[in-house]
Amino acid sequence: MSKIVSTLPSELTNKCSNAMNPNEHSNDLTSETFASIPILVVDDDLVYLQLLTEMLNEQGFRVDGCESIEEARDLLRIRDYPIIITDWVFPGESGLKFCSDIRLKESSYHYLILMTGEFSQDKVVQGLNAGADDFIVKMPKKAELMARLNSGVRVIRQHQRLEQQKLEIKRLAETDFLTGVFNRTYLSEKLPAEIKRATRYPQSLSILITDIDHFKHINDTFGHHTGDLALQHFVNIIQKNLRRDIDWLSRYGGEEFVAVLPNTSIQKAFSVAEKLRFLVETTPLLDNDRIVSFTASFGVATLNLDQKTNAETMLKEADQKLYLSKRLGRNCVN
Ligand code: GH3
Ligand code: MG
Ligand code: MG
Repeated sequence: MSKIVSTLPSELTNKCSNAMNPNEHSNDLTSETFASIPILVVDDDLVYLQLLTEMLNEQGFRVDGCESIEEARDLLRIRDYPIIITDWVFPGESGLKFCSDIRLKESSYHYLILMTGEFSQDKVVQGLNAGADDFIVKMPKKAELMARLNSGVRVIRQHQRLEQQKLEIKRLAETDFLTGVFNRTYLSEKLPAEIKRATRYPQSLSILITDIDHFKHINDTFGHHTGDLALQHFVNIIQKNLRRDIDWLSRYGGEEFVAVLPNTSIQKAFSVAEKLRFLVETTPLLDNDRIVSFTASFGVATLNLDQKTNAETMLKEADQKLYLSKRLGRNCVN
């Protein structure tokens, strides 16, 4: 795998500077933008490869170059290059096929620029049909290259924005607005996945349901806003005492939450619930000068590999245990 960061021989530098007059260059994007979008240049002709690499480096792009499609495929396995400039003809390989392969399996968008030594309308049509976004005839002047790359950068930027928006929409769709924990939709999708994983390996898996005791009384006495703060306070206590990135918490209903504890036996789940119960009881919410004390009840259930437990039966069992805790006087674990 070769990475080209070369100093050009003087005759090439002359040829290069003839091709690019700095005054020709006009673009509306900053070199900071360029640096954040790495480019891969693939050409078996080392002269062109060096010329292009230098030209792009000069403009502030982060560029990697390689001489074969095989090397390019290797590089793409370990790094993302949103913009790829590839030659058409390689010994035994085709840049056209490289473009169509990328299009077939890509998950994130690559802006593909195909280069050839000779221009024909047929070639342009063939190249674009293979999946290329643009077409360059060697050796482009700097102004043309930058104008074409500006288009590429705009497209990539737009794709990156859409990807970010998609992630944000997904995050909002699975998060409870008030407490920031996962919502019931997420629970209904991810608990079956946790059960599947625990069954396959096999590993233990436990859940606990918890519900604040006499929560209506908090709302009635202190107001709905303090009730909201109490919910956030409750979630905070639980979150801080679960294993980060392993256990997760979701809001099941009004003031009812489900904690999912992978790789956790029923005994261990009981001790986690007992610890949480104790912390909730002994850590009141301080809302301005008011001390708001409350307790919570817990129900615990575990995955039984012999009985083909599913998410529904696990939740039902934990819920029954929670109501047993309520019946037995609240502020306890069952
Ligand atoms: P129990 O001990 O039996 O659980 O009694 P409880 O008063 O907690 O009874 P219940 O669970 O039925 O009450 C839930 C209350 O939670 C009713 C509802 O008004 C309130 N609630 C639900 N969601 C919110 C919320 O987002 N904010 C606030 N402040 N209150 C909520
Ligand atoms: Mg309650
Ligand atoms: Mg409730």
